[in-house]
Amino acid sequence: MTLIIQKYGGTSVGSTERIKNVARRIARFRARGQQIVVVVSAMSGETNRLIALAKEFQAHPDPRELDVMVSTGEQVSVALLSMALMDLGVKAKSYTGAQVRILTNNAYTKARILKIDEDKIRADLDAGYVVVVAGFQGVDESGSITTLGRGGSDTTGVALAAALKAEECQIYTDVDGIYTTDPRIVPEARKLKTITFEEMLEMASLGSKVLQIRSVEFAGKYKVRLRVLSSFNEEGEGTLITFEEGENMEHAIISGIAFNRDEAKITVLGVPDRPGIAYQILGPVADANIDVDMIIQNVGHDGMTDFSFTIHRNEFARTVDILKNQVQPHIGARGVMGGDRIAKVSVVGVGMRSHVGIASRMFRALAEEGINIQMISTSEIKISVVVDEKYMELAVRVLHKVFDLDQVS
Ligand code: ASP
Ligand code: MG
Repeated sequence: MTLIIQKYGGTSVGSTERIKNVARRIARFRARGQQIVVVVSAMSGETNRLIALAKEFQAHPDPRELDVMVSTGEQVSVALLSMALMDLGVKAKSYTGAQVRILTNNAYTKARILKIDEDKIRADLDAGYVVVVAGFQGVDESGSITTLGRGGSDTTGVALAAALKAEECQIYTDVDGIYTTDPRIVPEARKLKTITFEEMLEMASLGSKVLQIRSVEFAGKYKVRLRVLSSFNEEGEGTLITFEEGENMEHAIISGIAFNRDEAKITVLGVPDRPGIAYQILGPVADANIDVDMIIQNVGHDGMTDFSFTIHRNEFARTVDILKNQVQPHIGARGVMGGDRIAKVSVVGVGMRSHVGIASRMFRALAEEGINIQMISTSEIKISVVVDEKYMELAVRVLHKVFDLDQVS
């Protein structure tokens, strides 16, 4: 008998009616003799509601207490779904993360899974139960409840799939798969049948909000077959995240156009061109726990250079502050400037490895639309540019077309 993990997100269990629908779907899988472990998120909006509630008491809620509280969202979902299954005559049993014993480290609000005890789940499966596990949560060595970071139920699903060696981890969500880009920006965007795990990582980190990035990393590490599907639409195979460019890969060179409007850029001007400067600029930024994305340093001339990088938009003011107060006087830079009205647009595809001229095609297409490129960065399977925010959608549309990603209808 094959075992699958099904994870249902917040919108999929967002109301009593939807929970009943999910239960009916699970019952149909069960009727085919499939063993199923279900992971669920909190009902949509619930985690946000709980966090807001906590903030009425502490501006920065104590992380341990916050986890005790936000984990209740999922606890409610698992119990309700189990009741709905039982009502359909399906044997079901719910578990919180601690009850399973999903052991994590003690990094409250962003804990990492260390180990999963699978004995109870296995015994229940063998006794014919559908096992319903609360996503997003675990327990540390000392017994304190932990959570895995926003969107963490995806990671619970993948981790269970790895621990139980499930056939597949199916992530049911409100979209029916991974698209070549956001269909709200490009209506011709196509659903991908497959995408490689590396491409998915690039797409996820670049802002397609379908899967928690950590779950994709996890799936890559433990070779879990991961599939994204719609919970509202019975038909469709969704998108399978594969490990290689296999036989059924669609033969596009580029798989998708990703974008991110959450970034800001900063330039430190007139930096002395000598060893240790990059460290002196970025060290204090890292010490403040600010994530840096793209980094560019120019060729020096007359002993001076400019140093630019991008960060999350929310960190813009704080970063400028650190640079002006801690870095600029220290290294004798000429100035600090930047802007938070930028966006990053990326073309992603493993086909890039074996094809030349992708960058020039991209830059030409942007040039023809008069879009100025402010920064460029590349990896083996991705080329990203920073452009003015107001040209982002245009850039995405143009690139989607130039790389032949539009729907063939
Ligand atoms: N309920 C949690 C959140 O909203 C975890 C999840 O849905 O995956 O982030
Ligand atoms: Mg999610």
